[in-house]
Amino acid sequence: MAAPVVIVGGGQAAVQLCLALRKEKYAGDVVVCSEESELPYHRPPLSKAYITGKTDDEKLLMRPESFYQSRNIDLRLNCMVSAIDPAAKSVTTAQGENLPYQYLVLTMGARARHLPVKGRDAVGVVELRDIKDARQIKDRLSGCKNVVIIGAGFIGLEVAAALNVQGVGVTVFDTAERVMGRAVAPEISRWFEATHRAAGIDIHLGEGITEITAADDGNVSGVVRSNGERINAEMVLIGIGVEPHTDLASAAGLDCENGIVVDQYCQTSDPSVFAAGDCANHPNVFADGRRVRLESVQNATDQARTIASAIAATENNTPPDKPYAAVPWFWSDQAEHSLQMAGLSFDADTHITRGLPADGSFSVFHFRGNDLLAVDSVNASRDHMLARKLLGARISPTRLQAEDVDFDLKTLL
Ligand SMILES: Cc1cc2nc3c(=O)[nH]c(=O)nc-3n(C[C@H](O)[C@H](O)[C@H](O)COP(=O)(O)OP(=O)(O)OC[C@H]3O[C@@H](n4cnc5c(N)ncnc54)[C@H](O)[C@@H]3O)c2cc1C
Repeated sequence: MAAPVVIVGGGQAAVQLCLALRKEKYAGDVVVCSEESELPYHRPPLSKAYITGKTDDEKLLMRPESFYQSRNIDLRLNCMVSAIDPAAKSVTTAQGENLPYQYLVLTMGARARHLPVKGRDAVGVVELRDIKDARQIKDRLSGCKNVVIIGAGFIGLEVAAALNVQGVGVTVFDTAERVMGRAVAPEISRWFEATHRAAGIDIHLGEGITEITAADDGNVSGVVRSNGERINAEMVLIGIGVEPHTDLASAAGLDCENGIVVDQYCQTSDPSVFAAGDCANHPNVFADGRRVRLESVQNATDQARTIASAIAATENNTPPDKPYAAVPWFWSDQAEHSLQMAGLSFDADTHITRGLPADGSFSVFHFRGNDLLAVDSVNASRDHMLARKLLGARISPTRLQAEDVDFDLKTLL
């Protein structure tokens, strides 16, 4: 029997890859090394329904244990990979075991970015990346009247909205001038900022904190604003973005730059090694082939499919023929509001609004010249689904059609 496919990481991309490899009729052994002690689970609910008890551990599971058994997947929990030896085609685990591979797939995701601020180590200063973090937040919430959130990105705002609905006092700080500023159109930022403020969340933009304070028992007591004012809090969540896990890959000599560098087949600079998901920096056809690193379920899932197909092709002695070309999309649920994004908007020069923000349901269409690049939708799922289809088919509405709510975009398909 040939050496197996070894997958490092047991998250979104890893589970999809297991599924896709078997769908592609890959009959060899598959070993998944996950450093976590849990069966692979969905991360998105952690910042939404899970922390407020609206969903439980069982519902988070991506697949039951029997899924791995029935597909002959050797899922190893508590199994951190500590080194890769590309010459020997093997990985070493923290327990000292050597695992040979025929193909190695790196799906290690990302870690929360560190905030170097005084008081960072107080008890009750939390991040949110995995289920252990979410449990810590959930446990701590019972004694919490006030929470400070540093970072008004997706995770910060999702948690802010979920806790606010529960009656917890929430204060959010971000040094940027608008919420979710790196990802959405200014109009969307303004709408969410106003909506969260109206719901009672205290938002401070263009402002960081200078210190996290703690009581004598080591528990966090609040933060100090840049103007010296103290704000009380029994929990402080730091959500200022993530950094891709590249240490293993760069120590093994693989090209890394803002992630593990891969080509259109998710292959790294070593042809036996692939990377997918949050840790992979890939050329994206929806950004004219420019390299991007996306942090989304869609990206992890579709890249895993690309890798399975490339491995299946290699096994059949044919060159891979299904490059990664999926329409990027993402969602963020903030209280009862749904934000859905399709495409990549960073090269856009014109932004057209469809619908009235004041009505609480609208979309922003991003164009470069006459080409539609992306659509951000607020409480407008139909626009989002049509946008994915239009972008996938490379069909652009005119700006007038995009703006005109009476024009049915479906007729363009
Ligand atoms: C709280 C939260 C909310 C989110 N909400 C949304 C959302 O609403 N919509 C959306 O599209 N996306 C959302 N995301 C992002 C989405 O979950 C990620 O993009 C996706 O999980 C990436 O999949 P991945 O397989 O690359 O990494 P992950 O799913 O993060 O899995 C990586 C795994 O690798 C493990 N690992 C790392 N290093 C090693 C090692 N050396 N050895 C063994 N194992 C290792 C990690 O512990 C982890 O289990 C959210 C993420 C979080 C954290």
